[in-house]
Amino acid sequence: TDVHPSHFIRDIVLADQESGLHSGRVQTRFPPEPNGYLHIGHSKSICLNFGLAEEFGGQCNLRFDDTNPEKEETEYVEAIKADVRWLGFQWAKECYASDYFQQLYDWAEKLISDGKAFVCDLNAEETRAYRGTLTEPGRPSPFRERSVKENLDLFRHMRAGEFPDGTRTLRAKIDMASPNLNLRDPVLYRIKRAHHHRTGDAWPIYPSYDFTHGQSDSLEKVTHSICTLEFETHRPLYEWFIAQLDIFPSHQYEFARLNLNYTVMSKRKLLQLVKQGVVSSWDDPRMPTISGARRRGTPPLAFRRFCETIGVTKFNGMTDIALFEHTIRNTLNPIAPRRMAVLDPLKVTLTNYPEGKVEHITAINNPEDAAAGERQIPFGHTLYIDREDFLEDAPKKFFRLKPGGEVRLRNAYVMKCDEVVKDAAGNVIELKCTVDFATLGANPEGRKVKGVIHWVSAAHAVQAEVRLYDRLFTVEKPDGDKEHDFMEFINPDSLRTVTACLEPELALDAQKVRDQISANAQLPLREEGSGVDSAMRPMYSSDLRVQFERVGYFCLDEDSTAEKLVFNRTVALKDSWAK
Ligand code: ATP
Ligand code: MG
Ligand code: MG
Repeated sequence: TDVHPSHFIRDIVLADQESGLHSGRVQTRFPPEPNGYLHIGHSKSICLNFGLAEEFGGQCNLRFDDTNPEKEETEYVEAIKADVRWLGFQWAKECYASDYFQQLYDWAEKLISDGKAFVCDLNAEETRAYRGTLTEPGRPSPFRERSVKENLDLFRHMRAGEFPDGTRTLRAKIDMASPNLNLRDPVLYRIKRAHHHRTGDAWPIYPSYDFTHGQSDSLEKVTHSICTLEFETHRPLYEWFIAQLDIFPSHQYEFARLNLNYTVMSKRKLLQLVKQGVVSSWDDPRMPTISGARRRGTPPLAFRRFCETIGVTKFNGMTDIALFEHTIRNTLNPIAPRRMAVLDPLKVTLTNYPEGKVEHITAINNPEDAAAGERQIPFGHTLYIDREDFLEDAPKKFFRLKPGGEVRLRNAYVMKCDEVVKDAAGNVIELKCTVDFATLGANPEGRKVKGVIHWVSAAHAVQAEVRLYDRLFTVEKPDGDKEHDFMEFINPDSLRTVTACLEPELALDAQKVRDQISANAQLPLREEGSGVDSAMRPMYSSDLRVQFERVGYFCLDEDSTAEKLVFNRTVALKDSWAK
């Protein structure tokens, strides 16, 4: 899509271009903390930051905000890079806040020398108590008036690892009476002996988010630093550091984060779901992660469209997950080939169709796309239809199959149900039917047949495991309830696995994907900055997305083998949660 939706941040960039700010240069960044996998919320920030850079001929950096060593891991760094690439974006530079640790340290010494920072011996609890509240001013730390010499000396000993964890901090000297709590002598450095995924054990002290973020932006000459609304009250601090250090004036802008109902999106909670085995992994198709959505069959274009639809504003609200699902359906409809699959097979014997006879029926692959062509579907004496398409005691408005009734077999004949076969317990186990041979591609004589159902030939059916995913939570706001933990609202039916019967074409489709994957297995994953999209190793779910007619959109899962096919339901054809 080449149309750029208008929003207030884009208007700011347009105005800056007009006024010639930074000579019209646009530099943004997407700054994830590598403490988990990216989720759908992050895609909003990714589309915004990379989208603005793309539109205005600028650049967007991928910056890992890695200042909390205990929670951060290289696995997360790699997963984040794969997700951003998969969404179709290419960063200009791959940066790490940890690469700036020495520079940040030097800037801290400068603030100390200028009398603008001091070493404080209060512990975390005392620091909080001294800070005051929104209604009550803070009290200055008893260590606030230390001399520059003493502060420098203590800070160097902190850096040398001579004090126990948590015993001292470096704090800015700003204003303990400020109505903005963030300006009440904020902490710049903490003592923490933790192994860092990049710097190892080189640093026993780590800078705070506030002391890192703006300076990192400034070092990268970021022109528009876009973050979520919670950071609005941090902006004066962001600007204070830049002014005191007299460095490149990056500017911060805030927008409302994306919140989705029926899910949680904090990485801490997502990690809990993985750790406690509620889901199988970060990329479990039920997870609201980008990798989960990818494995579920969501096309990357659906993310971009969704982000365009929801727009960028300053108002926090709740977005209906149904809107995302609707976008996925609309994105898949023109591109997903139609196939027939029976999820809950019921045997049908065609008593007037010769045993052993096989006919190949021509079917179009996609009514939305003439270029998708046609395929042949085998038809024979025994079929499977979906159990829910037959009702013994059917109401008047039931237009599918009932005893004595007629229905159109999709792409094939009109069929009449003559006899219902049951087992000893009274369960329907088979239907005996007849087809009207005059109805292939033609309307039946003298009567109307309203219903159309899908089917597969029993002799040709390919079995597959089909994973039917549903929402992970049963309530709209699983984490919005103070009385209950979000884990209490897990949907027990979020995954149902069935053995389905597929039309044989799907086995050929899957074979093509496997061939492509083995042909490309030697290809390296696309290297940063190489700009070579084609050299990316294909991924299962991005290569076979189909519509099971009348059922939903499905993709081939990476658990598939030559012996066993596995499909994931991306989204049902209709929203079963709509009221
Ligand atoms: P979490 O609470 O999930 O850990 P976070 O904001 O701490 O979220 P980061 O890795 O720091 O996660 O986020 C990277 C960028 O993505 C930040 O600029 C952040 O503002 C943005 N972001 C995170 N969550 C959302 C969201 N729900 N909607 C829009 N942007 C988001
Ligand atoms: Mg976080
Ligand atoms: Mg963060």
